[in-house]
Amino acid sequence: MEQTIIYSNSQNDFAYPTLSILHIQTEALKAIHDYLYEQKLLQLMPVMLSPITDPLSHETSDARINYFGQELQLTKSMIFHKQLAIASCNTKGIYIMSPNVRLEKPLKRDSGRHLIEFSQVDIELREVKALKFMELLEGLIISIITRVKGKCERELEDLGVSLKIPKRPFKIFSSEELKKKYGEDFEKEISLQEIDPFWITDYHREFYDKEDPDRPGHYLNYDLVYPEGFGEALSGGERDFEYEILLRKIKERYQNPETFKFYLDKAKDGKLVASAGGGLGIERLVRFLAKMPHIREVSLFSKVPGEHYQI
Ligand code: AMP
Ligand code: MG
Repeated sequence: MEQTIIYSNSQNDFAYPTLSILHIQTEALKAIHDYLYEQKLLQLMPVMLSPITDPLSHETSDARINYFGQELQLTKSMIFHKQLAIASCNTKGIYIMSPNVRLEKPLKRDSGRHLIEFSQVDIELREVKALKFMELLEGLIISIITRVKGKCERELEDLGVSLKIPKRPFKIFSSEELKKKYGEDFEKEISLQEIDPFWITDYHREFYDKEDPDRPGHYLNYDLVYPEGFGEALSGGERDFEYEILLRKIKERYQNPETFKFYLDKAKDGKLVASAGGGLGIERLVRFLAKMPHIREVSLFSKVPGEHYQI
């Protein structure tokens, strides 16, 4: 049964992140733009309302509005818009600083890493395999940490934080091997043990993540995970883009193909292309850099699941 909203965020001291956290966030954002610019990616502006958004593989309630009789949803992620955009512009890659609204269940309140509104830097690379995207992301993470370490010495000292610059390549684990070793909560367990960011591959989730043609039931997707118990940083994958495959996978997930008609019609006309991408949560990144126990501490007027918001 759904929990009711019983908490109030008016009492906490975290309506505004501290100056040290804001300095760290500002440097991290600058590092993201600089790095992606150097990599020759083009920045698109966010889409915040759309007839369809990410169906997600975990349960959240939909945030819907009615605009003069047309139902629109607030963006959970720009996956479909990214895929359509990268197919229509013949460029190496794109990214969006994308605000997302996800009405997460109240039981996520104490996870320390969930908000109901947050931002991600959502990236998609045209006609590349998973490993190419992972390489780009490793470079991005190293460049962010290096910049924050170099520019925010005083702020990190104020917070008692020492940042370690990870070495490439990051370790790669498969979700199957981790599940065997640690059980269902494998991501949490391995995140507590590792000291550098690392990858977990092959999750069974949304229909647009590419199924491995050589290993049906396995997926060419990945999560980047922070060490020291900070958990998931990014999810992404290679994408399926062929009509018949997409249709089969939508049906396998008991989703309604009619919902995705516009997108599926593009696939049918051969207008989607192969790509790989992923979304890196900004608040989770800043929480990791500032080593804050809860994501509420890095977010302005934080909307933690299950709380009552004052402003
Ligand atoms: P997803 O594709 O659903 O994994 O979302 C992309 C990234 O956004 C995740 O890896 C997280 O870093 C971040 N993210 C997802 N959901 C939330 C949330 N409820 N609160 C804060 N960050 C989130
Ligand atoms: Mg994820």
